[in-house]
Formats: sequence, C-alpha cells, structure tokens
Amino acid sequence: MSGEAALHERKQEKLLTREAIEPRKVRVDRTGGTGVEIDWKDGHASRWTFAWLRHGCPCATCVDEREGLGLEPGQAKPEQRAANALPMFKEPPRPKNVTQVGNYAVRFTWNDGHESGIYSWDYLRRVCQCEECTAS
Ligand SMILES: [Zn+2]
Ligand SMILES: [Zn+2]
Repeated sequence: MSGEAALHERKQEKLLTREAIEPRKVRVDRTGGTGVEIDWKDGHASRWTFAWLRHGCPCATCVDEREGLGLEPGQAKPEQRAANALPMFKEPPRPKNVTQVGNYAVRFTWNDGHESGIYSWDYLRRVCQCEECTAS
C-alpha cells in the first residue's frame, strides 16, 4: 500500500464527535518534563510524552520525512551516523514554549528549534496513545 493510500484510509477510519475533539482540560508539564495530558469533553483522556509529540510533528516537512522512512507519527527516526563516530548526546525533546493557536490547536517550540508543527485537537485525538485507542 502506498503512503498516500494508508493516510487516506486512516483519515476515514474514525468519525469524531465535536465533544471528542474539544479539550476540557489541557495540562502541559513543562517543568516535570513528562508530557501533555488532555481531558476531552466526551470524557476520554489522552496523554503523550514530549518525545512522542516531537516525533509526531504534523508539519509538512516532518510528515514527508516520516512517510519517506515508513515511520508512524511518534516513531523516532533511526540514527544516522558514520560507523566509527561517537554517539552524540542529544537532549530529549522538550518544548521551550507552548502557545495555543486559535481555539483549535496548540503549537510547540521545541528545544531543537523546530516550531512549524500545529497540533490540532483533531490530530491529537486521532493519535491518542491510550490502550483503547491503540488497540483498534
Ligand atoms: Zn515538523
Ligand atoms: Zn484514547
């Protein structure tokens, strides 16, 4: 299956109600560094680590890159380095800044400088990582 077909299928997979994509409460644990939690109006609760969110960046560049590598949102790309090079220390992803975009999305400025991803509530609900959602 081509990447485009897979994406198309995924988009049609779930029909979400308005309550399902409106957050009741959003918690971003920037100081503790654990991640983001959202309680939705339909009673569902989601949480993601910052690493997941960074690797699940929905901007066009990151989506293209993931599709090229065959990665799912949230999957880190395999490290590319010369065989005899020392592994470089990389700081774990963490947002330097978090801003709300209108009433439909949130935007992160990551510690690696990347900031083009607009994480809509709709997108976040679709990539909910809870047991129930990942099982289906
Ligand atoms: Zn991106
Ligand atoms: Zn879920």
